[in-house]
Amino acid sequence: MHSLTVDLGDRSYPILIGPGLLGNSTHFTNAIRGRQVLVVTNETIAPLYLEKLLASLQDFDKVDSVQLPDGEAFKTLDTLNRIFDTLLEKRHDRSTTIVALGGGVVGDMSGFAAACYQRGVDFVQVPTTLLSQVDSSVGGKTGVNHALGKNMIGAFYQPRLVLIDIDTLTTLPDRELSAGIAEVIKYGMICDAPFFAWLEANMDALLARDPAALAYAVERSCADKAAVVAQDERESGRRAILNFGHTFGHAIEAVQGYGKWLHGEAVAAGMAMAAELSRLRGWISQQEVDRLRALLTRANLPQQSPVDMAVDDYLRAMSVDKKVQDGKLRLVLLRAIGDAQIVADTPKEQLIEALHSCGA
Ligand code: NAD
Ligand code: MG
Repeated sequence: MHSLTVDLGDRSYPILIGPGLLGNSTHFTNAIRGRQVLVVTNETIAPLYLEKLLASLQDFDKVDSVQLPDGEAFKTLDTLNRIFDTLLEKRHDRSTTIVALGGGVVGDMSGFAAACYQRGVDFVQVPTTLLSQVDSSVGGKTGVNHALGKNMIGAFYQPRLVLIDIDTLTTLPDRELSAGIAEVIKYGMICDAPFFAWLEANMDALLARDPAALAYAVERSCADKAAVVAQDERESGRRAILNFGHTFGHAIEAVQGYGKWLHGEAVAAGMAMAAELSRLRGWISQQEVDRLRALLTRANLPQQSPVDMAVDDYLRAMSVDKKVQDGKLRLVLLRAIGDAQIVADTPKEQLIEALHSCGA
């Protein structure tokens, strides 16, 4: 088992990574302070892992669970209320701990429920998708969607423990695995050139779900994210480098309709666009862009625009993106592989050319 710490003063917490962790009750008894636990999961994950988790929670006095419907479409205030209904019906008090068992949707909703219930109860993340293991479970962003915008209602709320059992990845659909790998590649691109080179050497092992390769990729990704978050917990500056590829990716998701491309797929194409833009600025070479594109392709990820999206679709979607501040489009570009910089002065012509070079 590997362990690292997210360093946030009195809100610091451990991330434990390894096989078989779900079945080990010690990790839960160490992290959970009260005697009550509510496990939040969904209808897909419950039949796979709920029983195993509940067995590890046997020593607590009161253990309940709630199964939410599966899908981003259910990441809403209505669904959130089902968590509160269960907590109140089962008479959980302020000493309860909410344990999120699932992907980013379950994790984001459970964390927000924990931030709100009786003005805040303890929270543990047990992420079961690669994306949630390397991204959403670390850093304390929680929330739900609103009809008028994704993740628009939420809170910063840190868990007490992130427990990553990489055995859960054995049941993850291939497409979801690749979507998670997109965020893994992102860390290499923005802050960790040696990790990028490691990914080039080990992509086949990751896709074959080699446990040691997966554990290493998760650990390194979490360490990279934790370091960025520790510098800037509330995204007043540097944390925004985690949005590399995301402004373009959000445009793809919004124009295509959420769900057509997975988030990681849209981010993959978006990273290719941001890399092309970095090249046009004279910061990285064509060869570095090609390394990124080749790695994305090997990971079964797109590195071109969806065929039916034109430059105007991007420009329209990006002007309403929340990264536009003071009328300026903020983008994350690369000085080199492993060295990201936030810029707010992209010439429109360069943006258009970068989009063209990705097929838009
Ligand atoms: P998800 O939670 O929808 O999970 C993807 C699918 O895989 C679901 O159908 C789920 O039921 C299923 N699944 C989960 N674990 C499984 C397993 N082990 N075996 C088989 N199936 C499994 O999607 P996601 O990609 O994990 O997360 C996306 C969400 O995360 C979005 O809502 C996004 O906004 C959020 N997010 C949050 C942050 C953050 O910082 N809080 C960061 C990135 C993404
Ligand atoms: Mg993302």
